[in-house]
Amino acid sequence: MLEEVASGHPASVREIDAAVGRTPLVRLRAFEAKEGVEIYAKLESRNPGGSVKDRAALAMIRDGEARGLVGPHRTLLDATSGNTGIAYAMLAAPRGLHVRLCVPANITPERTRLLGAYGADLVFTDAMEGSDGAIREARRLYERDPDAYFYPDQYGNHANWRAHFNSTAPELIEQTGGRLTHFVAGLGTSGTFTGTARRLRDWHPATRLVSVQPDSPLHGVEGLKHMASAIVPAIYDPALADDALEIATEDAHALTRRLAREAGLFVGPSSGAALAGCLEVARTLDRGVIVTIFPDGGDRYLSEPFWSAPALALSHESESAIRAHAAEAYPHECCGALIGRGGAVAQALRLGNISDAGRARRFLVSPADYQRAEATADFADAELLGFYHSHPNHPAVPSAFDLQHAWPNLSYVIVSVSKPATASAETGALRSWRLRHDRTAFDEENVSTSCQ
Ligand code: PMP
Repeated sequence: MLEEVASGHPASVREIDAAVGRTPLVRLRAFEAKEGVEIYAKLESRNPGGSVKDRAALAMIRDGEARGLVGPHRTLLDATSGNTGIAYAMLAAPRGLHVRLCVPANITPERTRLLGAYGADLVFTDAMEGSDGAIREARRLYERDPDAYFYPDQYGNHANWRAHFNSTAPELIEQTGGRLTHFVAGLGTSGTFTGTARRLRDWHPATRLVSVQPDSPLHGVEGLKHMASAIVPAIYDPALADDALEIATEDAHALTRRLAREAGLFVGPSSGAALAGCLEVARTLDRGVIVTIFPDGGDRYLSEPFWSAPALALSHESESAIRAHAAEAYPHECCGALIGRGGAVAQALRLGNISDAGRARRFLVSPADYQRAEATADFADAELLGFYHSHPNHPAVPSAFDLQHAWPNLSYVIVSVSKPATASAETGALRSWRLRHDRTAFDEENVSTSCQ
């Protein structure tokens, strides 16, 4: 599709159109856990408008042009959470088209500025209504004056998914040398998933097609939709996916951070969600070539707080209390509760270690002590933020036993403690860990110590 450049346009239009697509595919070795299971991602930030939506916007504008709906007398109107709008504005500029976009008022300041730079005109809609509010407003504006607008309606426009049928999928087949076995992609309008998946199914009916969406209506993964609670796009075909995965926002954010730090890939949070889907698929396989789409780059989200990993702030008193407890309990493990508010620990409450499997190697909190910790937190109008325990003669990293006995959403502080031959026990490193939502591993969180 991208080769058959529409005739009749000046070179300035043809050249920018021709720059859409043919994005690189990179292997994510840092995230491959098994020898025979390869994971690849297509870097859609390398499109001229910076996202996967350049493909769909180009196809929808070309389709409108072919049907005589596009011209200087009509404003291009649509609802978009950002990337499609940027793509429309980029492609419209050399065409001399005016663009009006309905966007939720909470889109990032980077996006607002970017759309302004391309000369688009923005209609802000209620942030609480998300992209659905923007869709309703676009429909209202169009119905009021249909002749004034070219309204591609990306949610119901078949040119949207066809863009991926005609470009994304053939590129993936070529770039993997025809080896791909699994395709994973997030759902927004569903154009990327629907178009790519349909072509891959035609190519090789055994290809496994896996869709990814956020696990709750109030999620923080820009660009994706929680289908059960959203206006379902008319082009969405739920029967296409072999598996439909739901991803927690926190996991998507944690993987987005890891992609930058461990793979040098600075991408947006929907890429983190796509990777979470790939890792879930990878766990079920012994052999396979999993391919996904990274829809955009991280620069569009720089002002968002998720870039810094969650951090735990320990008061000086609580840190000293944890270290003193660890030294006293040596050579046994000690344990206790972390009580405070908003990630700031105000109190380290000692609890008994009832492990009968050798208290030098394990800790276990009794149900009664757990309730005491909850009650202490309630009484102080605070929360139970997590637990601490010591690792006698071991580093401050969680053990396999810790992994089996931890809960998500809590902090696990571990302090290592040892005893030199001639002195009393001394504590060493103190580190904090949080269990991933899929319970497969811990991620380290930063610890700061402060006077509170
Ligand atoms: N991620 C981001 C950042 C997006 O902007 C979009 C488009 N809404 C998607 C994913 C999903 O793409 P699609 O609309 O093709 O389903």
